[in-house]
Amino acid sequence: MTTRLYTHPIYLEHLTTPGHPERPDRLRAIERALDDEAFEMLDRAEAPMGDERTILYAHPESFVESVRRQVPEAGLARIDGDTTLSPKSWQAALTAIGAANAAVDDVFAGKADNVFVASRPPGHHAEKTTAMGFCLFNNAAIAARHAQRTHGAERVAIVDWDVHHGNGTQDIFWDDPSVLYCSTHQMPLFPGTGAKSETGVGNIVNAPLAPDTGSDHFREAFRSRVLPALDSFAPDLIIISAGFDAHHRDPLAEINLTEADFDWATGQLMDSAARHSSNRLVSLLEGGYDLHGLAFSVAAHVSRLMKG
Ligand SMILES: [Zn+2]
Repeated sequence: MTTRLYTHPIYLEHLTTPGHPERPDRLRAIERALDDEAFEMLDRAEAPMGDERTILYAHPESFVESVRRQVPEAGLARIDGDTTLSPKSWQAALTAIGAANAAVDDVFAGKADNVFVASRPPGHHAEKTTAMGFCLFNNAAIAARHAQRTHGAERVAIVDWDVHHGNGTQDIFWDDPSVLYCSTHQMPLFPGTGAKSETGVGNIVNAPLAPDTGSDHFREAFRSRVLPALDSFAPDLIIISAGFDAHHRDPLAEINLTEADFDWATGQLMDSAARHSSNRLVSLLEGGYDLHGLAFSVAAHVSRLMKG
């Protein structure tokens, strides 16, 4: 397997309030974890700046302009209680989108079998017209539409194993049968959406997990709901909204996964990609707030992506 990694120093310059869990140190922890000879064969590339027009694949122009207008010249601007903008946030967000789209380009051009994007800010809580939950624009949604518009993908699946429900991705694709959205997440938990009964036009598969559950429930949700949905949908591309905050060390939730579970889930999605999408798999960092849990989990995830 050829696995590419996209990241960029600009991601460290998207700043949040002191003590905020979604902080630049997350990417420093990932960088340290991947700075090991086990990852020597990883094809490292600098994330390109995104094309602003691609944001419109998932968000209306009025919303994009309102985010742009709120970017401060100094200090921090608050979008809501936990979502902030700093002077470099626009550039960071656009480079997160650029990396996600470039990852899609790479797997369709055969330059890589799969790609991991280590970026900030994350994206899965960003709805069509609302930035929230540390997210400005929905990177995974934009990348899915980019695959459809630029590479002729008919069906794109987004699998979201972040411990929080991706309300934004669900909102954007709620009535779009060309995109399958599958999510495992703790419930109840922020943002409150993600019940099994939320099914869109049959393209939304939510698998909520009760607090204090772990590996068994997560794997069972994958086996009984996520993987069968992928098999019947037969996607041309699989995008992972890869949050690692279901790790047992994470301070924001109460699901008890270990890095072995992320290794396993990665393998399952790679098998699915081999069956349906010529291995095309793009993984985008979402959450994960315990630096050790995040580092161990990303190492297991990327290691599996490289090994197949
Ligand atoms: Zn999360």
